[in-house]
Amino acid sequence: MQSFEYANPATVQEAVGLLGARWGQADVLAGGTDLLSLMKEHLHEPKRLVNIKNIKELEGIQKTASGLRIGALVTMDELAKNAEVHAAYQSLAEAAAGIPSPQIRHMGTVGGDLCQRPRCWYYRQGFGLFAMKDGKSLIPEGENKYHAIFGGGPAYFVSASSLGPALVSLGARVKLVSAKGTREVPVAKFFVTPASEAAREIALQPNEILTEIIVPAAAVHTATYEVRQKEALDWPLAAASVALTMNGRTVTSAKVVLGHVAPTPWEATGAEAALKGKTITADTAEAAGKAAVLGATPLSQNAYKVTLAKVAVKRALMEAVKTAKA
Ligand SMILES: Cc1cc2nc3c(=O)[nH]c(=O)nc-3n(C[C@H](O)[C@H](O)[C@H](O)COP(=O)(O)OP(=O)(O)OC[C@H]3O[C@@H](n4cnc5c(N)ncnc54)[C@H](O)[C@@H]3O)c2cc1C
Repeated sequence: MQSFEYANPATVQEAVGLLGARWGQADVLAGGTDLLSLMKEHLHEPKRLVNIKNIKELEGIQKTASGLRIGALVTMDELAKNAEVHAAYQSLAEAAAGIPSPQIRHMGTVGGDLCQRPRCWYYRQGFGLFAMKDGKSLIPEGENKYHAIFGGGPAYFVSASSLGPALVSLGARVKLVSAKGTREVPVAKFFVTPASEAAREIALQPNEILTEIIVPAAAVHTATYEVRQKEALDWPLAAASVALTMNGRTVTSAKVVLGHVAPTPWEATGAEAALKGKTITADTAEAAGKAAVLGATPLSQNAYKVTLAKVAVKRALMEAVKTAKA
Protein backbone atom coordinates (compact mmCIF):
# COMPACT_ATOMS: atom_id res chain seq x y z
CA MET A 1 0.00 0.00 0.00
CA GLN A 2 1.25 3.51 -0.79
CA SER A 3 1.63 5.92 2.14
CA PHE A 4 -1.15 8.52 2.41
CA GLU A 5 -2.29 11.43 4.53
CA TYR A 6 -5.18 10.63 6.91
CA ALA A 7 -7.89 13.18 7.76
CA ASN A 8 -10.59 12.83 10.42
CA PRO A 9 -13.18 15.57 9.82
CA ALA A 10 -16.18 16.01 12.14
CA THR A 11 -18.53 17.74 9.69
CA VAL A 12 -19.54 17.32 6.04
CA GLN A 13 -18.36 20.89 5.34
CA GLU A 14 -14.90 20.11 6.71
CA ALA A 15 -14.78 16.78 4.82
CA VAL A 16 -15.64 18.18 1.38
CA GLY A 17 -12.92 20.83 1.86
CA LEU A 18 -10.41 17.97 2.05
CA LEU A 19 -11.42 16.31 -1.24
CA GLY A 20 -9.68 16.91 -4.57
CA ALA A 21 -10.81 18.03 -8.01
CA ARG A 22 -9.46 14.83 -9.61
CA TRP A 23 -9.72 11.13 -8.72
CA GLY A 24 -6.52 9.98 -7.02
CA GLN A 25 -6.08 13.11 -4.93
CA ALA A 26 -8.36 11.94 -2.09
CA ASP A 27 -10.71 9.03 -1.30
CA VAL A 28 -13.61 8.95 1.14
CA LEU A 29 -13.27 6.19 3.75
CA ALA A 30 -16.48 4.79 5.28
CA GLY A 31 -16.53 1.16 6.52
CA GLY A 32 -13.42 0.37 4.44
CA THR A 33 -14.72 -3.07 3.37
CA ASP A 34 -14.07 -2.27 -0.29
CA LEU A 35 -11.66 0.66 -0.22
CA LEU A 36 -8.95 -1.06 1.82
CA SER A 37 -8.83 -3.99 -0.65
CA LEU A 38 -8.65 -1.53 -3.55
CA MET A 39 -5.71 0.20 -1.87
CA LYS A 40 -3.90 -3.03 -1.03
CA GLU A 41 -4.26 -4.10 -4.68
CA HIS A 42 -2.92 -0.66 -5.85
CA LEU A 43 -6.16 -0.03 -7.77
CA HIS A 44 -6.78 3.11 -5.68
CA GLU A 45 -3.74 5.07 -4.51
CA PRO A 46 -5.16 8.24 -2.97
CA LYS A 47 -2.77 10.84 -1.60
CA ARG A 48 -5.27 11.53 1.21
CA LEU A 49 -7.89 9.41 2.95
CA VAL A 50 -10.87 11.32 4.34
CA ASN A 51 -12.44 9.24 7.11
CA ILE A 52 -16.13 10.17 7.36
CA LYS A 53 -17.08 7.82 10.19
CA ASN A 54 -16.97 10.57 12.84
CA ILE A 55 -19.51 12.76 11.03
CA LYS A 56 -22.71 12.48 13.07
CA GLU A 57 -24.91 14.17 10.44
CA LEU A 58 -24.33 11.16 8.14
CA GLU A 59 -25.91 8.72 10.60
CA GLY A 60 -29.46 7.53 11.20
CA ILE A 61 -32.72 6.64 9.47
CA GLN A 62 -35.59 9.10 9.80
CA LYS A 63 -39.17 9.07 8.60
CA THR A 64 -40.00 12.39 6.94
CA ALA A 65 -43.22 13.92 5.59
CA SER A 66 -42.31 12.68 2.12
CA GLY A 67 -40.79 9.29 2.91
CA LEU A 68 -37.55 8.11 4.43
CA ARG A 69 -34.10 9.67 4.86
CA ILE A 70 -31.22 7.21 5.19
CA GLY A 71 -27.83 8.63 6.24
CA ALA A 72 -24.83 7.47 4.20
CA LEU A 73 -23.19 5.90 7.29
CA VAL A 74 -26.13 3.63 8.09
CA THR A 75 -24.81 0.08 7.99
CA MET A 76 -26.41 -2.75 6.01
CA ASP A 77 -27.27 -4.39 9.32
CA GLU A 78 -29.07 -1.29 10.62
CA LEU A 79 -30.96 -0.98 7.35
CA ALA A 80 -31.98 -4.65 7.32
CA LYS A 81 -33.23 -4.49 10.93
CA ASN A 82 -34.92 -1.08 10.90
CA ALA A 83 -38.64 -1.43 11.72
CA GLU A 84 -39.72 1.38 9.36
CA VAL A 85 -37.77 -0.10 6.45
CA HIS A 86 -39.19 -3.55 7.16
CA ALA A 87 -42.75 -2.31 7.33
CA ALA A 88 -42.84 -0.07 4.26
CA TYR A 89 -39.80 -0.91 2.08
CA GLN A 90 -39.58 -4.69 2.14
CA SER A 91 -37.49 -4.85 -1.04
CA LEU A 92 -34.81 -2.64 0.52
CA ALA A 93 -34.71 -4.60 3.79
CA GLU A 94 -34.40 -7.83 1.79
CA ALA A 95 -31.58 -6.45 -0.37
CA ALA A 96 -29.61 -5.39 2.72
CA ALA A 97 -30.30 -8.62 4.60
CA GLY A 98 -29.22 -10.62 1.53
CA ILE A 99 -25.58 -9.53 1.92
CA PRO A 100 -24.42 -12.82 3.35
CA SER A 101 -21.57 -11.93 5.68
CA PRO A 102 -22.44 -10.52 9.15
CA GLN A 103 -19.05 -8.77 9.18
CA ILE A 104 -19.77 -6.94 5.91
CA ARG A 105 -23.31 -6.06 7.05
CA HIS A 106 -21.94 -4.57 10.28
CA MET A 107 -19.05 -2.61 8.71
CA GLY A 108 -20.36 -1.81 5.21
CA THR A 109 -22.41 1.38 4.86
CA VAL A 110 -25.21 2.23 2.43
CA GLY A 111 -23.10 5.05 0.94
CA GLY A 112 -20.24 2.60 0.43
CA ASP A 113 -22.56 0.00 -1.10
CA LEU A 114 -23.69 2.46 -3.77
CA CYS A 115 -20.11 3.70 -4.40
CA GLN A 116 -18.30 0.31 -4.30
CA ARG A 117 -16.15 -0.42 -7.36
CA PRO A 118 -16.97 -3.25 -9.80
CA ARG A 119 -16.12 -6.79 -8.72
CA CYS A 120 -15.17 -7.77 -12.29
CA TRP A 121 -12.09 -9.95 -11.91
CA TYR A 122 -10.36 -8.26 -14.88
CA TYR A 123 -10.77 -4.88 -13.16
CA ARG A 124 -9.64 -6.27 -9.81
CA GLN A 125 -6.52 -7.72 -11.43
CA GLY A 126 -5.50 -4.39 -12.91
CA PHE A 127 -6.80 -4.71 -16.50
CA GLY A 128 -9.03 -1.63 -16.11
CA LEU A 129 -12.81 -1.29 -16.35
CA PHE A 130 -12.94 -2.31 -20.03
CA ALA A 131 -10.18 -4.98 -19.87
CA MET A 132 -8.70 -3.78 -23.17
CA LYS A 133 -5.69 -5.40 -24.79
CA ASP A 134 -4.44 -4.35 -28.25
CA GLY A 135 -7.56 -2.19 -28.69
CA LYS A 136 -9.93 -5.11 -27.97
CA SER A 137 -11.81 -6.16 -24.83
CA LEU A 138 -10.63 -9.47 -23.37
CA ILE A 139 -14.08 -10.21 -21.93
CA PRO A 140 -16.33 -11.37 -24.83
CA GLU A 141 -13.99 -14.27 -25.55
CA GLY A 142 -12.55 -14.59 -22.06
CA GLU A 143 -13.73 -15.69 -18.62
CA ASN A 144 -17.12 -14.00 -18.67
CA LYS A 145 -19.48 -16.14 -16.63
CA TYR A 146 -20.14 -13.35 -14.08
CA HIS A 147 -20.40 -10.54 -16.63
CA ALA A 148 -23.24 -8.54 -18.19
CA ILE A 149 -26.11 -9.96 -20.23
CA PHE A 150 -27.54 -6.46 -20.82
CA GLY A 151 -25.89 -3.20 -21.83
CA GLY A 152 -22.46 -4.75 -22.37
CA GLY A 153 -19.69 -3.14 -24.45
CA PRO A 154 -17.24 -1.59 -23.94
CA ALA A 155 -18.06 -2.11 -20.24
CA TYR A 156 -19.04 -5.71 -19.43
CA PHE A 157 -18.80 -5.65 -15.61
CA VAL A 158 -22.02 -5.89 -13.59
CA SER A 159 -23.04 -3.30 -11.01
CA ALA A 160 -22.11 -4.84 -7.65
CA SER A 161 -24.62 -2.97 -5.50
CA SER A 162 -27.51 -5.01 -4.13
CA LEU A 163 -29.23 -1.87 -2.83
CA GLY A 164 -29.13 -0.20 -6.28
CA PRO A 165 -31.98 -2.15 -7.95
CA ALA A 166 -34.25 -1.84 -4.89
CA LEU A 167 -33.63 1.93 -4.65
CA VAL A 168 -34.20 2.44 -8.39
CA SER A 169 -37.50 0.52 -8.20
CA LEU A 170 -38.57 2.72 -5.26
CA GLY A 171 -37.75 5.96 -7.12
CA ALA A 172 -35.10 6.97 -4.55
CA ARG A 173 -32.63 9.87 -4.89
CA VAL A 174 -29.16 10.47 -3.46
CA LYS A 175 -27.88 13.75 -2.05
CA LEU A 176 -24.35 14.68 -3.19
CA VAL A 177 -22.51 17.49 -1.41
CA SER A 178 -19.35 19.35 -2.48
CA ALA A 179 -17.74 22.60 -1.26
CA LYS A 180 -19.68 24.32 -4.06
CA GLY A 181 -23.15 23.11 -3.04
CA THR A 182 -25.65 20.26 -2.96
CA ARG A 183 -27.37 18.33 -5.72
CA GLU A 184 -29.92 15.54 -5.73
CA VAL A 185 -29.68 12.77 -8.33
CA PRO A 186 -32.20 9.94 -8.90
CA VAL A 187 -30.52 6.62 -8.07
CA ALA A 188 -31.52 5.54 -11.60
CA LYS A 189 -29.14 8.23 -12.93
CA PHE A 190 -26.48 7.80 -10.23
CA PHE A 191 -25.37 4.52 -11.83
CA VAL A 192 -23.86 5.08 -15.27
CA THR A 193 -22.14 2.96 -17.87
CA PRO A 194 -18.70 4.59 -18.16
CA ALA A 195 -17.96 5.96 -21.61
CA SER A 196 -14.19 5.85 -21.16
CA GLU A 197 -11.65 3.89 -19.14
CA ALA A 198 -10.96 6.96 -16.98
CA ALA A 199 -14.64 7.53 -16.14
CA ARG A 200 -16.46 6.09 -13.13
CA GLU A 201 -19.54 3.87 -13.02
CA ILE A 202 -21.35 6.33 -10.72
CA ALA A 203 -22.24 10.00 -11.13
CA LEU A 204 -20.30 10.99 -7.99
CA GLN A 205 -17.59 13.58 -8.67
CA PRO A 206 -14.17 13.41 -6.93
CA ASN A 207 -15.01 16.50 -4.83
CA GLU A 208 -18.37 15.14 -3.60
CA ILE A 209 -19.65 13.07 -0.68
CA LEU A 210 -22.86 11.07 -0.86
CA THR A 211 -24.57 12.25 2.33
CA GLU A 212 -28.00 10.58 2.27
CA ILE A 213 -30.58 8.59 0.36
CA ILE A 214 -34.12 9.90 0.09
CA VAL A 215 -36.78 7.26 -0.52
CA PRO A 216 -40.28 8.50 -1.40
CA ALA A 217 -43.30 7.31 0.57
CA ALA A 218 -43.99 3.70 -0.32
CA ALA A 219 -47.56 3.14 -1.50
CA VAL A 220 -46.61 -0.09 -3.14
CA HIS A 221 -46.00 -3.80 -2.69
CA THR A 222 -42.29 -4.49 -2.96
CA ALA A 223 -39.87 -7.40 -2.88
CA THR A 224 -36.32 -8.35 -3.83
CA TYR A 225 -35.39 -11.86 -4.91
CA GLU A 226 -31.73 -12.79 -5.32
CA VAL A 227 -30.20 -15.92 -6.83
CA ARG A 228 -26.85 -16.73 -5.24
CA GLN A 229 -24.36 -19.48 -5.87
CA LYS A 230 -23.68 -20.00 -2.16
CA GLU A 231 -24.82 -18.70 1.22
CA ALA A 232 -21.41 -17.23 1.99
CA LEU A 233 -19.06 -14.45 0.95
CA ASP A 234 -20.36 -13.67 -2.49
CA TRP A 235 -22.50 -11.38 -4.65
CA PRO A 236 -25.78 -12.50 -6.31
CA LEU A 237 -25.62 -13.99 -9.80
CA ALA A 238 -28.88 -12.25 -10.66
CA ALA A 239 -31.57 -10.41 -8.71
CA ALA A 240 -34.84 -8.59 -9.23
CA SER A 241 -36.45 -5.82 -7.19
CA VAL A 242 -40.10 -5.03 -7.87
CA ALA A 243 -42.41 -2.25 -6.69
CA LEU A 244 -46.09 -2.51 -7.53
CA THR A 245 -48.92 -0.02 -7.16
CA MET A 246 -52.17 -1.95 -6.98
CA ASN A 247 -55.88 -1.39 -6.99
CA GLY A 248 -57.11 -4.41 -5.06
CA ARG A 249 -55.40 -7.28 -6.85
CA THR A 250 -54.86 -5.39 -10.12
CA VAL A 251 -51.48 -3.87 -10.92
CA THR A 252 -51.88 -0.21 -11.87
CA SER A 253 -48.14 0.40 -12.31
CA ALA A 254 -44.99 -1.65 -11.88
CA LYS A 255 -41.27 -1.09 -11.52
CA VAL A 256 -39.10 -4.11 -12.24
CA VAL A 257 -35.33 -3.64 -11.90
CA LEU A 258 -32.76 -6.38 -12.45
CA GLY A 259 -29.51 -6.51 -10.52
CA HIS A 260 -26.07 -8.01 -11.24
CA VAL A 261 -26.81 -8.48 -14.95
CA ALA A 262 -25.63 -5.13 -16.43
CA PRO A 263 -23.13 -2.33 -15.69
CA THR A 264 -26.03 -0.50 -13.96
CA PRO A 265 -29.26 -1.64 -12.27
CA TRP A 266 -31.33 -2.62 -15.32
CA GLU A 267 -34.94 -1.48 -15.61
CA ALA A 268 -36.99 -4.19 -17.31
CA THR A 269 -39.49 -1.97 -19.10
CA GLY A 270 -40.92 -4.93 -21.06
CA ALA A 271 -41.92 -6.62 -17.80
CA GLU A 272 -43.40 -3.38 -16.45
CA ALA A 273 -45.61 -3.03 -19.53
CA ALA A 274 -46.63 -6.71 -19.37
CA LEU A 275 -47.85 -6.32 -15.78
CA LYS A 276 -50.04 -3.23 -16.17
CA GLY A 277 -53.73 -4.05 -15.61
CA LYS A 278 -52.96 -7.66 -14.66
CA THR A 279 -53.59 -9.71 -11.56
CA ILE A 280 -50.41 -11.40 -10.39
CA THR A 281 -50.66 -15.16 -10.75
CA ALA A 282 -47.94 -17.73 -11.39
CA ASP A 283 -48.70 -17.36 -15.11
CA THR A 284 -48.61 -13.55 -15.30
CA ALA A 285 -45.49 -13.46 -13.10
CA GLU A 286 -43.79 -15.96 -15.39
CA ALA A 287 -44.81 -13.95 -18.46
CA ALA A 288 -43.32 -10.83 -16.85
CA GLY A 289 -40.10 -12.77 -16.21
CA LYS A 290 -39.94 -13.72 -19.88
CA ALA A 291 -40.63 -10.12 -20.94
CA ALA A 292 -37.88 -8.91 -18.57
CA VAL A 293 -35.15 -10.83 -20.38
CA LEU A 294 -36.18 -10.08 -23.96
CA GLY A 295 -33.21 -8.39 -25.61
CA ALA A 296 -30.61 -10.00 -23.34
CA THR A 297 -27.26 -10.53 -25.10
CA PRO A 298 -25.41 -13.18 -23.10
CA LEU A 299 -21.71 -13.78 -23.61
CA SER A 300 -20.07 -17.16 -24.31
CA GLN A 301 -20.30 -18.40 -20.67
CA ASN A 302 -23.23 -16.61 -19.06
CA ALA A 303 -26.47 -17.59 -20.83
CA TYR A 304 -27.49 -19.22 -17.51
CA LYS A 305 -28.01 -15.69 -16.15
CA VAL A 306 -30.96 -15.19 -18.51
CA THR A 307 -32.81 -18.05 -16.80
CA LEU A 308 -31.85 -16.81 -13.33
CA ALA A 309 -33.05 -13.26 -14.06
CA LYS A 310 -36.36 -14.59 -15.41
CA VAL A 311 -36.92 -16.70 -12.29
CA ALA A 312 -35.88 -13.83 -9.98
CA VAL A 313 -38.57 -11.58 -11.52
CA LYS A 314 -41.27 -14.25 -11.16
CA ARG A 315 -40.39 -15.00 -7.53
CA ALA A 316 -40.08 -11.33 -6.54
CA LEU A 317 -43.53 -10.63 -8.00
CA MET A 318 -45.12 -13.60 -6.24
CA GLU A 319 -43.65 -12.41 -2.96
CA ALA A 320 -44.60 -8.76 -3.44
CA VAL A 321 -48.31 -9.55 -3.84
CA LYS A 322 -48.59 -11.77 -0.79
CA THR A 323 -50.02 -8.81 1.12
CA ALA A 324 -52.34 -7.55 -1.67
CA LYS A 325 -56.01 -7.34 -0.67
CA ALA A 326 -58.70 -9.12 -2.68
C1 LIG B 1 -17.00 -10.78 0.75
C2 LIG B 1 -17.91 -9.65 0.36
C3 LIG B 1 -19.21 -9.94 -0.06
C4 LIG B 1 -20.05 -8.87 -0.45
N1 LIG B 1 -21.33 -9.14 -0.91
C5 LIG B 1 -22.09 -8.11 -1.34
C6 LIG B 1 -23.40 -8.32 -1.87
O1 LIG B 1 -23.90 -9.43 -1.96
N2 LIG B 1 -24.10 -7.24 -2.30
C7 LIG B 1 -23.60 -5.97 -2.22
O2 LIG B 1 -24.28 -5.03 -2.59
N3 LIG B 1 -22.38 -5.74 -1.72
C8 LIG B 1 -21.63 -6.77 -1.29
N4 LIG B 1 -20.39 -6.51 -0.79
C9 LIG B 1 -19.87 -5.14 -0.84
C10 LIG B 1 -20.15 -4.40 0.42
O3 LIG B 1 -21.54 -4.18 0.54
C11 LIG B 1 -19.39 -3.09 0.27
O4 LIG B 1 -18.01 -3.41 0.37
C12 LIG B 1 -19.76 -2.11 1.33
O5 LIG B 1 -21.12 -1.77 1.32
C13 LIG B 1 -18.96 -0.84 1.12
O6 LIG B 1 -19.25 0.02 2.20
P1 LIG B 1 -18.07 0.63 3.06
O7 LIG B 1 -18.74 1.55 4.01
O8 LIG B 1 -17.20 -0.42 3.66
O9 LIG B 1 -17.32 1.43 1.91
P2 LIG B 1 -15.75 1.74 1.74
O10 LIG B 1 -15.01 0.49 1.51
O11 LIG B 1 -15.29 2.62 2.84
O12 LIG B 1 -15.84 2.59 0.39
C14 LIG B 1 -16.16 1.98 -0.84
C15 LIG B 1 -16.07 3.05 -1.96
O13 LIG B 1 -17.11 4.00 -1.80
C16 LIG B 1 -16.58 5.32 -1.56
N5 LIG B 1 -17.47 5.88 -0.53
C17 LIG B 1 -17.92 5.27 0.59
N6 LIG B 1 -18.82 6.04 1.22
C18 LIG B 1 -18.94 7.17 0.48
C19 LIG B 1 -19.73 8.35 0.62
N7 LIG B 1 -20.59 8.50 1.63
N8 LIG B 1 -19.59 9.32 -0.31
C20 LIG B 1 -18.72 9.16 -1.36
N9 LIG B 1 -17.96 8.06 -1.54
C21 LIG B 1 -18.08 7.08 -0.63
C22 LIG B 1 -15.15 5.10 -1.11
O14 LIG B 1 -14.33 6.21 -1.41
C23 LIG B 1 -14.77 3.86 -1.91
O15 LIG B 1 -14.45 4.20 -3.24
C24 LIG B 1 -19.56 -7.54 -0.37
C25 LIG B 1 -18.27 -7.27 0.08
C26 LIG B 1 -17.44 -8.32 0.44
C27 LIG B 1 -16.03 -8.00 0.90
